[in-house]
Amino acid sequence: MNAPAAAPLAYQVALSDHARSAEQRAAILAGELGFGRHFTDHMVAIQWDKANGWHDARVHAYGPLALDPAASVLHYGQEIFEGIKAYRHADGSIWTFRPDANGARLQRSAARLTLPQLPVAEFTESLRQLIAVDHAWVPSAAESSLYFRPFMIATEAFLGMRAAQAAAYYVIASPAGAYFAKGVAPVSIWLSEDYARAAKGGTGAAKCGGNYAASLLPQMEAQALGCSQVLFLDPVEGKYLEELGGMNVFLVYRDGRIVTPALSGSILEGITRESILQLARDRGLQVEERKVSVDEWKDGVVSGEISEVFACGTAAVITPIGQLKGKDFAVGDIDAPAGEVTMAIRKELTDIQYGRVPDRHGWLVRLR
Ligand SMILES: *Cc1c(COP(=O)(O)O)cnc(C)c1O
Repeated sequence: MNAPAAAPLAYQVALSDHARSAEQRAAILAGELGFGRHFTDHMVAIQWDKANGWHDARVHAYGPLALDPAASVLHYGQEIFEGIKAYRHADGSIWTFRPDANGARLQRSAARLTLPQLPVAEFTESLRQLIAVDHAWVPSAAESSLYFRPFMIATEAFLGMRAAQAAAYYVIASPAGAYFAKGVAPVSIWLSEDYARAAKGGTGAAKCGGNYAASLLPQMEAQALGCSQVLFLDPVEGKYLEELGGMNVFLVYRDGRIVTPALSGSILEGITRESILQLARDRGLQVEERKVSVDEWKDGVVSGEISEVFACGTAAVITPIGQLKGKDFAVGDIDAPAGEVTMAIRKELTDIQYGRVPDRHGWLVRLR
């Protein structure tokens, strides 16, 4: 399914005839942005089919998709997505963070879901094309950003069981406010013992909608119990940490170690996770990627050996975890302030993303 290297896609750009006015946009950007509630005026669409490969790249008005009701995405869930942000720097320039890593991950997800692989350079170009028309939607308030949601669906109208022979790739974008509007505050996490988000040999390492569909019921249970997220355990022994529904997890030890579950085949390989591993090494912490049992977490918090726990992902960057709750236990203190190491790494990562410190690892790519 890996098409031979083709010429870069040529885009047709058709500006929206109902784009919001500068005043309307300013009013939206000045309000409570939240996350994923507002969308920019345009979107990217690229078609793929088996005979022609990737073709028909367009930027056009944001709006509904027309799909054949037999499109396989609607029946067999052939869908993958990405999450990546654009950051406005103090001089007005617009940057994104490690798009090659997201583009490569989209390819790995595509391989697992038998969808076509978009060349990584085309992934980055699709973000650039959208920014070219919608750059005014990148907010400038502290810790705000424009969140891109690239996604791919199988569009072929065919109910037979096989990899779809037609697909489409889209990018939409949503201005996002600071995730923690009132300052970074620790959250409590519910340990899911009844449900897994991924199976051995399943799609846990792919960023696909189906994984999220499977995590919604435990997520709703957690919220009903006063927790903001779910911690999932390994699907084989039900003993080792995997991750939250959409974030990876780290434990910080008082003795200078920082530990995260090793990629198991069912854990999603977060780009924030990988970046934090690098920043932790840079600051001389001893980094360990290995199996971590839930008992190690509980015992370590009780004994004080584990001083901080946090979750990470593009949307919230780093979220301190104050408490872990299960059916018959609760460890940690939700009222304790966020840990020092957690906050230092969070500051360093966001300082890089917003251009406030040198980008020593070459992670930023300018979009405009
Ligand atoms: C997207 C995602 C993450 C975080 O990945 P980032 O690249 O850091 O945003 C973690 N877990 C799951 C299940 C995800 O879907």
